[in-house]
Amino acid sequence: MTSSRRKLVVGNWKMHGSRPHNAELLAGIVAARPFGCDVGVCVPFPYLGETAVALAGSDIRWGAQDCSQHVQGAYTGEVSVPMLAEFGCRYAIVGHSERRALHGESDQVVADKAKAALARGLTPIVCVGETLAQREEGQAHAVVKRQLSAVIHTLGHCAGEMVVAYEPVWAIGTGVTATPEQAQEMHALIRAQLRAATPHADAMKLLYGGSMKPENAGALLAQQDIDGGLIGGAALKAPDFVAICRAAG
Ligand code: PEP
Repeated sequence: MTSSRRKLVVGNWKMHGSRPHNAELLAGIVAARPFGCDVGVCVPFPYLGETAVALAGSDIRWGAQDCSQHVQGAYTGEVSVPMLAEFGCRYAIVGHSERRALHGESDQVVADKAKAALARGLTPIVCVGETLAQREEGQAHAVVKRQLSAVIHTLGHCAGEMVVAYEPVWAIGTGVTATPEQAQEMHALIRAQLRAATPHADAMKLLYGGSMKPENAGALLAQQDIDGGLIGGAALKAPDFVAICRAAG
């Protein structure tokens, strides 16, 4: 059974792309509208300006894959939320497992980034998810609960404004997807945790991410608590991304 929440599909391009490739990809997405769901792309920082131009006048949204928790200052290499806002960003992904693992981002840093995004009107897409070892040890729920608790605590009464993406680390970029039942089970637990924290939990969008592709999108998106997808590899080809958006619409 699906819910009445409007679905959201967001592409996470990661560190992929080139100006010609991006232009073709964005044109392919724009040409395929309208979709029956909300759609966004989170692109590498240097491409934000051109993305904003390519998507201007369309209902496709754009955003970044990270942001600093600081507003400005001596933070070489970082990009602040006010800068992203200048480029019309609607979203900032925070806490992607690659940033947690490769850049040592703690739960609190992720929470602070989510707060910084919300403070300037961007919607943080907060990624949570367990590793394979944690799942095998029966720790999946505890890990996700801990990651989410930090964000809930830090956002306080604004917690209902974030988007949460459940991305099991073992399913990201591996071709292995969580089964619809596995994903739904975790999404239901996440929603229950949110219900205890905010009156808006039932309106919040919970995305699934991890090797979602046209072939498995329909079954995942049909689950009660899965309100869309955060798409990595399949977001780099317009036909695949468009097919997932259609499955969500
Ligand atoms: C991601 O990086 O957020 C992701 C879900 O990647 P993929 O779809 O390639 O597994």
